[in-house]
Amino acid sequence: MDLILFGPPGAGKGTQSKFLQETLKIPQISTGDMMRAERKSGSDLGQRFDSFMSKGLLVPDDLVIELLEKRLHQDDAKGGAIFDGYPRTVPQAKALDAVLEKSGRRIGKVLSLEVPEGSIVDRISGRRTCLDCGQAYHVRYNPPPPSGRCGSCNGERVVQRSDDTEETVRTRHAAYLKDTLPILAHYGQFPGVVVAIDGMGEVDAVTKRLLGAVGLDAAGS
Ligand code: AMP
Repeated sequence: MDLILFGPPGAGKGTQSKFLQETLKIPQISTGDMMRAERKSGSDLGQRFDSFMSKGLLVPDDLVIELLEKRLHQDDAKGGAIFDGYPRTVPQAKALDAVLEKSGRRIGKVLSLEVPEGSIVDRISGRRTCLDCGQAYHVRYNPPPPSGRCGSCNGERVVQRSDDTEETVRTRHAAYLKDTLPILAHYGQFPGVVVAIDGMGEVDAVTKRLLGAVGLDAAGS
């Protein structure tokens, strides 16, 4: 099964895809997490990513598509994946469709997490992210463990992401409206693929809605 978790920055894509990958037994592929890892390595490529990410701008398609294609060729992604934060432009969506098609796959569902614009800044300003595994928390709705360490990987660095400032969030939201939203029309050509999901409420409740949309309950059956 290949799924896209779609939605604006702060919709909960990262949080939800980490839960979904456990139940669905397919990996989350987050281009944002992959770019942060590359940036952390200090490589030239990581510095190129950073020059866009730190301003809230989209990284150019050719760089992102190359990164994605390499990831898709790894063994764990051969039976399907949950795409989180990819595609972010229509050319990225078309590139994904083309790579999947080569192995007889296609996007089964685009789960579009809907959250009112007014709650996005609140969600992002309260967001804390584990720099080691990418697990997302929110200071009020889904707080990190009292130890301050990550509940998933026990990493020590659960922090506010450097691009989660109000100004950068505004730039990221503008990029979402201009470049990313048209992806829904692209997948809208295929009947039943795009499913709108209410992204508000408890994390568990949203997970249940997402699993329901792919025909499963919380136990994965
Ligand atoms: P995310 O972790 O998905 O919120 O992504 C953080 C930042 O990484 C974005 O604001 C972009 O600068 C960059 N990024 C992540 N995924 C993509 C993508 N598919 N296309 C372009 N830029 C991306």
